[in-house]
Amino acid sequence: SSSGQSGYDLSFKILLIGDSGVGKSSLLLSFISSSVQDLAPTIGVDFKIKQLKVRGKRVKLTIWDTAGQEKFRTLTSSYFRGSQGIILVYDVTKRETFLNLADVWAKEIELYSTNHDCIKMLVGNKVDIESERRVSREEGTALAKELKFLFHECSARTRENVKQCFEELALKIMEVPSLLQEGSSSLKRKPDLRTHQSRCCS
Ligand code: GDP
Repeated sequence: SSSGQSGYDLSFKILLIGDSGVGKSSLLLSFISSSVQDLAPTIGVDFKIKQLKVRGKRVKLTIWDTAGQEKFRTLTSSYFRGSQGIILVYDVTKRETFLNLADVWAKEIELYSTNHDCIKMLVGNKVDIESERRVSREEGTALAKELKFLFHECSARTRENVKQCFEELALKIMEVPSLLQEGSSSLKRKPDLRTHQSRCCS
């Protein structure tokens, strides 16, 4: 491996996608930070880095948030380039965000994500407010099956199941040889991004 000295064995680029307000930034912060904190609405989170141990390997995840671009539906192929995993998020308390998965986001992924081996996961967020649930777990499971995505429900607020989402995604990526090829790391291809690393957590 080329990265032994930098402290990891494998490096994956993961994208968070879905309607504005579903909790993408919150999920990212909930996963990377160790203290439970108030999750205020966020803008401008570009990416964060987190290292995991999966099956004895040190796996570096560079997780990208859309930083609000999704409001304008202006994600482009450059956002998708070099990604090994995509997490498509909806809000279980807002039905429209679920309906937009098939109508909008699955189509965007189909159009722009050129790597068809890329592992995709559907995630229903905000299960902590069960009384406001508008999308059942069964509906989520059925859509994920139809789209051939992995599926989880979670809460960025309570952290329920958040780590498991990222861990399972990393594990599934590791099982696909074409996603492990040398040079598949997005950071290796985009040296201009290194200047941002001081803002990232590990
Ligand atoms: P994004 O636009 O998809 O990045 O969504 P944000 O992460 O900015 O979250 C939008 C709003 O939903 C914020 O007010 C968050 O505090 C709230 N939120 C995010 N995740 C959860 C969750 O798991 N449970 C609850 N109850 N609220 C959440």
